[in-house]
Amino acid sequence: MSPVRVRFAPSPTGALHIGGVRTALYNFLLARQTGGTMILRIEDTDQSRYVPGAEEYILESLAWAGIHIDEGVGVGGPHAPYRQSERKQLYRQFAEKLVAEGHAYYAFDTEAELETMRKSLLAAGGSTLPYGSQTRAQMANSLTLPSAETSLRLQRGDEYVIRLKVPADETIHLHDLIRGDVYVHSSQIDDKVLMKSDGMPTYHLANVVDDHLMQISHVIRGEEWLPSAPLHVLLYRSLGWADTMPQFAHLPLLLKPDGHGKLSKRDADQMGFPIFPLNWTDPKTNELVKGFRESGYLPEALLNFLAFLGWNPGTEQELFTLPELINAFQLERIGKAGARFDIQKAKWFNQQYLKQKSVADLAPFLTAELTARDRSVSETTVALAITILKERITFPHELWSEGEFLFVAPTTFDESVAAKKWNAEAVAVIRAYKDALIATEPFTAPAVKDVLEKTTQALHIGTGKILQALRLALTGRGTGPDLMIAMEIIGREGVVARLEHALKTLTVKS
Ligand code: GLU
Repeated sequence: MSPVRVRFAPSPTGALHIGGVRTALYNFLLARQTGGTMILRIEDTDQSRYVPGAEEYILESLAWAGIHIDEGVGVGGPHAPYRQSERKQLYRQFAEKLVAEGHAYYAFDTEAELETMRKSLLAAGGSTLPYGSQTRAQMANSLTLPSAETSLRLQRGDEYVIRLKVPADETIHLHDLIRGDVYVHSSQIDDKVLMKSDGMPTYHLANVVDDHLMQISHVIRGEEWLPSAPLHVLLYRSLGWADTMPQFAHLPLLLKPDGHGKLSKRDADQMGFPIFPLNWTDPKTNELVKGFRESGYLPEALLNFLAFLGWNPGTEQELFTLPELINAFQLERIGKAGARFDIQKAKWFNQQYLKQKSVADLAPFLTAELTARDRSVSETTVALAITILKERITFPHELWSEGEFLFVAPTTFDESVAAKKWNAEAVAVIRAYKDALIATEPFTAPAVKDVLEKTTQALHIGTGKILQALRLALTGRGTGPDLMIAMEIIGREGVVARLEHALKTLTVKS
């Protein structure tokens, strides 16, 4: 078996879509699992679609996600250059070779002539492929023109393209590792342009030539490329490379969160979730689109989530570290059906990974907020706050939104909780509790808990009955993390002041 060499081959036409990150990930997993090589090739032959900054964005996104590139743009390697625009000269010789061997031809038709053909085909109600085995005999190309005329046109610099001569009546077979055997009749394929009139190769030619020269063993890419695959098979064959043709695996589409239709940026915008790995500012419109990174997703959570969009391990296990993914991944276990982009699941993964983070990892998020407010809080207090908060958050920035009350007294109280829980019993307990806390030493969670128990016992009121009112008085809300630890963090002075304020502000409704 030849060594595994896989490539991620994006076009720098804008921000990398999250589906592209999944494609890169699957390639990467196979490379790592087999001790193979992960290659990054930039497919920038379509100059009209080139977007400045897109290539840097791709590189930064992969680096952030932890998808390491072994060979290619930004790294170098034995098949450099890895940017197709820098390999321009190379493609022509293969196109010319195809012409010389009768597998391709020069075509001189103008856009207007092609349009006329399209219209007449449409009127006849037949095939709408403007250029193929049925129509090429009626067009201006090196198959129909006398060879002297062709030479003359080429010499005088007439515009031309090189097209593949697709066989008229043949069934093309392709084995896809995910979809199994795929058969396409050659009449369904048009004589695709291989070299454009601007001297650039098309995606099809450049892609096949590079996959061959770079000794790619597996082409793992999105389902949108499946219709092109039979044409690529024809190209490999025509170029005499059928024996070393890579294996194909076309990944399932990513579907909208409701499972209906293809996931689009519009869905993401409307539903308020990211679709790009990092922030992206569109250079044309200046529109800033928020990325997964800036929204607070951890790269390891995102990878775990993406790995499951199309693949599953066949077990109940959902949490996979990268080494575990590398170990468990199997191309054969990727499904054909579209994968629902369930953003709730992405959040769930983030929560799980956030929980595993150490206090030291998370402390900077809280300290930054405190510093911004000129609050100096001891490291132990920050650590204590993180321990009670991290179970409750989905994103690191929620450490502040969930935990602000630990450091800043509430200015308002949740009305609905007050209406239900602020009653005479609660007021009685809280008043007595406040007095007892003034003398509680040390002011720690177990100590304040003990005092609370004693206070409620003395008043013959169940602690459970007044706990939410106490929480309301201290935090302004009806829910939150461990209240006794929260009290230790707030400290005696703060706790007493907050209770006094609540007793003054909140009224018992009868
Ligand atoms: N340049 C293509 C893209 O942008 C690559 C398709 C392929 O992997 O063959 O998706």
